[in-house]
Amino acid sequence: MTMNSQGRPSAPVLAVSNAEKTTTTGNRGLAIEEALLFEVGRLDATGVDVEDAGDFVPRLGSHVRKAPIGLPGLTEPEAMRHYVRLSRQNYAIDLGLYPLGSCTMKHNPRLNEKMVRLPGFADIHPLQPLSTVPGAVALIAELGRWLLELTGMATVAMSPKAGAHGEMCGMAAIKAAIAARGETRDVVLVPESAHGTNPATAALLGFKVVPVPARADGTVDPEEVRKRLGPEVAAIMLTNPNTCGLFERDVVAIADAVHAAGAYFYADGANFNAIVGKVRPGDLGVDAMHINLHKTFSTPHGGGGPGAGPVVLSERLAAFAPVPFVRFGEDGAAEFVETRRQAAGTATPFGRVTAFHGQMGMFVRALAYMLSHGADGMRRASEDAVLAANYVKARLGDVMSVAFPDRPAMHEALFDDRFLEGTGVTTLDFAKAMIDEGYHPMTMYFPLVVHGALLIEPTESESKASLDQFVDAMRALAERARAGDAAFFKAAPVFAPRKRVDETRAARQPRLTWTPPKEERAAAE
Ligand SMILES: *Cc1c(COP(=O)(O)O)cnc(C)c1O
Repeated sequence: MTMNSQGRPSAPVLAVSNAEKTTTTGNRGLAIEEALLFEVGRLDATGVDVEDAGDFVPRLGSHVRKAPIGLPGLTEPEAMRHYVRLSRQNYAIDLGLYPLGSCTMKHNPRLNEKMVRLPGFADIHPLQPLSTVPGAVALIAELGRWLLELTGMATVAMSPKAGAHGEMCGMAAIKAAIAARGETRDVVLVPESAHGTNPATAALLGFKVVPVPARADGTVDPEEVRKRLGPEVAAIMLTNPNTCGLFERDVVAIADAVHAAGAYFYADGANFNAIVGKVRPGDLGVDAMHINLHKTFSTPHGGGGPGAGPVVLSERLAAFAPVPFVRFGEDGAAEFVETRRQAAGTATPFGRVTAFHGQMGMFVRALAYMLSHGADGMRRASEDAVLAANYVKARLGDVMSVAFPDRPAMHEALFDDRFLEGTGVTTLDFAKAMIDEGYHPMTMYFPLVVHGALLIEPTESESKASLDQFVDAMRALAERARAGDAAFFKAAPVFAPRKRVDETRAARQPRLTWTPPKEERAAAE
């Protein structure tokens, strides 16, 4: 078999299926193998007719290209097929249930897509004078107003472009507030169950991270927080509901202790989907929280679109929000405050986190979601998300091991790998077998406080029939593992276009260039 420069087989690939069947083309039925773009195309071909430039004199001086650029040429149908074939190897929320815990892979309503394609939103440019886009400004302000209403906070920074970016923004506001008080506090408390972005954010901003251990029931003990508080502590970063899918019931006691010590309460709001319309984070004592519009408010993510991570801030931090921000005039009209100088007098922004105003396309979609659901609809969505997770937990509890059986789940059902003990099957093997069943695996090995974690977030958009089919597949796999069929799991996935790839190596040492195979190079020379 010839290997391409990325170390994978060059087309045509002989696919070996479960039954050892091979095909000449490498295709398996309508699952069509696809080679790299460079292998499909030809370096000396082109898909468009461009007239010869003639006696064109370039004005690029020494920057003029010396050799051909080396891009493959394809006809239009070849190019079309290449990308459509690749897209069919992707898993997507539009294909099936996507239980990736903590990521809230819910349906992206098509109404949102219709709204964002309106020319007044789709065809504007961030460098246009604001006076020419009053509708867009009003939309950003209106979305901000909804976020404040839902969270009970004082102000909102709309510009951060993802959850992690929002964390950085919120923590930078905290850093600025501490500096304005003339204090130096350089410690941030982070519970062990936290998402990796929390300690990474704190470290990026120069804080020292001090972990807080989890209680046996998966929640944070206010006593453990109190023990670690002191004049050097700037903030705690707490997720609620936490990454074990549990509501931190001592959250108010923790907030009070943190405030009494002169520190701030950063809440990771990625799990807001479980509590929208039920709890306002502002009422729990939160000082800063990012909201993942791409999770809670249904905007496409995970290959389908960029994130958006507005940050809501309490009264104590409001003055430090980055520019640009929306200010409301006496007449209620919204205007962007674009520079720190414009802000002077009312605020002392810590700076700016993006070039423009944020993810406009996501703002339109998120507001369309809010307006189409209304307050009652959003509350109902949260309730259904929690119901779906508890349903999965209840129906799998006897064949898989629930990590924290005594606490009701919020929007996620968390299992550990005790049910696989002695079977020779690992959480990873189990996940690979799910792929053969047509499911994107759940989140694995996170949170770290649970051994071999399997974190399932069904979201509210699955029907009962869809949940039942998923549960039946999971039950069958769990029973098969317990029946001792480890070989079945070790061989999985057998139906996927690729088997087990070395994900760590792919991430750490990606091969991002293509070099033609030796024969081709020799022929060209
Ligand atoms: C998704 C997530 C984040 C990070 O959000 P991004 O938008 O992916 O940057 C942070 N914390 C938790 C708990 C999350 O689930």
